[in-house]
Amino acid sequence: MEFYYKILENNKEWVTKKLEEDPNFFKRLENGQKPPLLWIGCADSRVPANQIIGADPGEVFVHRNIANMVVHTDMNMLSVLDYAVNALKIQHVLVCGHYGCGGIKAAMENKSVGLIDNWIRHIKDVYKMHQAELEAIDDEKKRWDRLVELNVIEQVYDLAETSIVQNAWKSGQKLIVHGWVYGVGDGIVKDLEVDLMSNQDLDEVYRLH
Ligand code: ZN
Repeated sequence: MEFYYKILENNKEWVTKKLEEDPNFFKRLENGQKPPLLWIGCADSRVPANQIIGADPGEVFVHRNIANMVVHTDMNMLSVLDYAVNALKIQHVLVCGHYGCGGIKAAMENKSVGLIDNWIRHIKDVYKMHQAELEAIDDEKKRWDRLVELNVIEQVYDLAETSIVQNAWKSGQKLIVHGWVYGVGDGIVKDLEVDLMSNQDLDEVYRLH
């Protein structure tokens, strides 16, 4: 229970500190949110969205799951995306993966870890798509790193393929989907430079007219 009481105490200290810096900090947030960014990241405790990019409350709309996946039948992810794009009119959607991701590692292995096998299965599909490139990498750590990157790129495309993103583009809404990988060992973000801003970037079969 010591830890539990400590986090309640931490909250009081944080509020005091914020109010010292800016007496209207919470008052302002009470009036609503207008974040410019939707962050889709891994649930890993080492990858806290706001801290990594120096963002305050009110600046990032966040969705996290194991291995930052964009599964197009996931109602949770779709609801967050729909609200971000259609209600908040967010202009930047970012998929942020990270090196050392346990979900990605599990996808490269054959060990069953329970229910989560079914979630990891989506990452195995990414592995299969890029099998030749991945298996040409002898070093296991480098192969893991590369799958982390390829997985982010695939999730960026999966986002762009959703009806939500394509409808926004069709209506002329400005919206860019980006992909990053964060280094848990050095804190540095690598921009994968996959910046999709129209359905012209997609394979013909995925384009909605
Ligand atoms: Zn992870």
